[in-house]
Amino acid sequence: MTFFALPVGIEEDALNRRMILSVFAALLISTVFTFHVADGAGMSGTLLCSCTQRAYDTPNDLLPNCTRPVLTRPGCGAILPVDRQSCSVFKRQNGFKVAYDAVVLGRTVTPAVIALGIRGRGFNDYAALVGLVIDTFYRPWTRSDLYIEVTRGAAEGGEYAKVDKITSTRIALIVRGAIFSELSPAAFIAKLGHEMIHVEQVKRQYTGVRFDRINDIVAAMNELEASSWETGHSRFAWKIGPNELWGCETGKEQDFAKAIRSCREWQIRELLITVNQNQSAQDNFGKWLEQNQWAKTSWLPRNRDWRNIRTNNAQSVIPIPSDPGQGLDCSSLIPGR
Ligand SMILES: [Zn+2]
Repeated sequence: MTFFALPVGIEEDALNRRMILSVFAALLISTVFTFHVADGAGMSGTLLCSCTQRAYDTPNDLLPNCTRPVLTRPGCGAILPVDRQSCSVFKRQNGFKVAYDAVVLGRTVTPAVIALGIRGRGFNDYAALVGLVIDTFYRPWTRSDLYIEVTRGAAEGGEYAKVDKITSTRIALIVRGAIFSELSPAAFIAKLGHEMIHVEQVKRQYTGVRFDRINDIVAAMNELEASSWETGHSRFAWKIGPNELWGCETGKEQDFAKAIRSCREWQIRELLITVNQNQSAQDNFGKWLEQNQWAKTSWLPRNRDWRNIRTNNAQSVIPIPSDPGQGLDCSSLIPGR
């Protein structure tokens, strides 16, 4: 069995935990991409090399194999085809396809692309693509609701992006470069949707809740909510609606997202042991649960006895359905241990 660790609440984590996390992140990502691909409900081959007519899952798979135009197809290259997709969500055009082709797949920047504020493949152009995804798929939010920044580098602790509250009205969306190359187009869009759930969380108001004793468990609950949106695990009236991209992700992307969601469940149970040892923490978490509508309607009904949790008998290793030999070990990075 190969295990790798998953941290809790990367967005809310203190900087001093970051260094440990990045080591695990590197391990995590390397393991993700050795997963055996199962024939499941996921969709494969949404990207195309129009020179060879071969389909690929991710830009990392596609781009090295699509470098040479052929004589019979002089304008051929890497593209996101939308006409032959059974995945109708890509057809929701607002320039997404041409922008993705230009910025992620390196196609020619046409006047239509320039009209979207994209001139090449610089950080600003990647940020413009992220803004376009939000405007296209995640209404009522628009790009102007966020300060969008794209940075170089791999996912941190399994998260390709994060949301930071700068001031009470200013929210930053920091996106790591790997999101564009390592994920299928559907998973790329869905990871940004996960972040928009975090944006909704940041905007929620609470009264009379002292967060200092419950930061870790609240961070884990917020991750569980975002993962539940991603995997379609719970129904809730989120502002952005349900995840329409789920069926268009690859089987291994779906498996991994489901395993992360299960890991968050495990982490919350583990954190409840600590919360329940402290009366003030327990009282404050109770107040938070009452005021958080997702937790109150989706989590609380299944966890009415949360105040009585003193042990965690659940398995800390979450198996990956498409490869039972692989598992996510949730136990290594519980905050404060
Ligand atoms: Zn998250």
